[in-house]
Amino acid sequence: MRRPTTGNRSKAMLEHWTRFVVTTLVFAFAVLALAHAAPQRVDGGFSFEKVIPAMDVLEDPEGHLDFDSVRASGDFRPAPAMGTNFGFTSSAWWVRFTLTNPAEGDRHVVLREDYPLIDHLELWAQQRDGSWRHTATGDRSVFSTREFAHRDFLFDLDVPANSERTYYVRAASGGPVDLSLAVYGTHALVGALSGEQLAYGAYYGGFIVLVLYNFFIFLIVRDRAFIFYLLYAASYGIYFAIHNGLAFEFLWPDSPAWGNQSLLVMLSFTLIFGMQFTRTFLGTASFARRLDTLAVVTQALAGIGLVASFFMPYSLLILPIAILTVVMVSLILTLGTLGLVRGYRPARFFMIAWGMLLVGVLTYMLKVFGVLPHNMLTQNGFQLGSLIEMVLLSLALASRVRELQRQSRTDTLTRVPNRRYFDEVAAAEFERARRGNGALALLVVDIDHFKRFNDQHGHVRGDEVLRQVAERLGNGVRRGDHVCRFGGEEFALILPGTDGKEAAEVAESLRRIVESATSVDSPITVSIGVASTRDREFAELDELFRAADRALYRAKDLGRNRVERFAG
Ligand code: GH3
Ligand code: MG
Ligand code: MG
Repeated sequence: MRRPTTGNRSKAMLEHWTRFVVTTLVFAFAVLALAHAAPQRVDGGFSFEKVIPAMDVLEDPEGHLDFDSVRASGDFRPAPAMGTNFGFTSSAWWVRFTLTNPAEGDRHVVLREDYPLIDHLELWAQQRDGSWRHTATGDRSVFSTREFAHRDFLFDLDVPANSERTYYVRAASGGPVDLSLAVYGTHALVGALSGEQLAYGAYYGGFIVLVLYNFFIFLIVRDRAFIFYLLYAASYGIYFAIHNGLAFEFLWPDSPAWGNQSLLVMLSFTLIFGMQFTRTFLGTASFARRLDTLAVVTQALAGIGLVASFFMPYSLLILPIAILTVVMVSLILTLGTLGLVRGYRPARFFMIAWGMLLVGVLTYMLKVFGVLPHNMLTQNGFQLGSLIEMVLLSLALASRVRELQRQSRTDTLTRVPNRRYFDEVAAAEFERARRGNGALALLVVDIDHFKRFNDQHGHVRGDEVLRQVAERLGNGVRRGDHVCRFGGEEFALILPGTDGKEAAEVAESLRRIVESATSVDSPITVSIGVASTRDREFAELDELFRAADRALYRAKDLGRNRVERFAG
């Protein structure tokens, strides 16, 4: 039997603490309760599932005791009222309980242990001939050792009419020994299992849809963040499938060793890809260099954990990895907060998503370490939180695509729309004007002698001027007009519903605004070319633009700092 012989200090402390708490409680209740736990009735009226209320517990710290000596032992104590989640423990735990059937008919009930990751789980049940039926299973044994092909551990218990039966269970594990034994009538069991399977089907169906859907979106948008999302969601989904015992049942029923290791492997992958997704999604390298480096370090540590899982036992690795998880989640939340503070819109969805997960993680962690009781919510809170997280992260990705789209249409220096935006909007406005018999005017604005300005004052001040001119142009136009940086020191303005005369007036006011706003020692002026669809019949947008551009050249020729209108 595999048993950890060495332990690091924190694990030893944890074990010591767990044992202290458990032992104290065991003794406290031993004083209060009867020496023998009361039997559970399983007569004809018994149809619903029931956590066995009365069990006796025996701790075997060395794990040496055999069935006969345990059966003869007087060291059984009533189980602590807080339950039989013994947490991380190197002891073997023996449990004894009695079922009584006072009815005339025989009963078959099913014993269920719903924590499917216990390494070694054994049952002794007395048969009608007085001999003991021994079933040895656990997730260190191949799946076929189970009495029922189910993700949890199920055992058939036969309780003959008018009799009492005592059962013994032995549990030992490198991970937590979280015993929550319940007996089900067969009818109740079928009802419970069909509900659970539906819930798991919906849950994993949700994961599969999210992964496939975002994969297809990736094929279209080609944003790497989607790939890391996929890897993150896939590792996470498999991690939970392992946790629920479904991966062992359906993916690798004959590989219990890998089954145990896979939990750590998938947890490490989840951490690595979750962090990689965060870094890519938020673009942390560009605004939080040091924290980004720290993030890479944590990824490397998760990578070490992954490699270590090949030659170190689960019991030694789970605590450091749990701590690393907390560190990485904190770091992710810090990075997300920084993204929010910088006004990055997609970070909002990102933060809500991680917040949901965090609530689940904390709930689950507190359960694993025995602070919170084992129940539906604590056992599944983490899992539910993760699906909600994945849905919200998918929304966050959509928001990111929108943001990238906006960025790709924005000039980085001046923050006004760029040429790509101009091309799209001008084409649409041109079409609209033609169909509706409306007017459309274009203004091409070029800064005068800007090369000279750059030569005299340097590029940095030149950039500053570009920003100021863009801002002034933006403030000087009407609502519904578009100011775009066309390239270099040239701006193109779209004025829907404007004829040549009006457009020339707008241009003249813009020219004046720029001129008056600049200092005397280095005057900045612009020349503007104006053309409108009302000036002539233009077959294409290109022609209209060229007309405005020609007008601009004339303005330059005629001495600059002036507006020229296309003459027809
Ligand atoms: P003109 O009056 O005939 O337009 O003369 P100009 O010097 O403005 O025109 P030209 O096309 O010869 O030079 C344009 C200059 O604009 C060249 C370059 O130094 C400057 N420029 C273009 N883009 C940028 C930029 O992003 N930042 C800065 N600082 N300067 C730029
Ligand atoms: Mg110029
Ligand atoms: Mg120029």
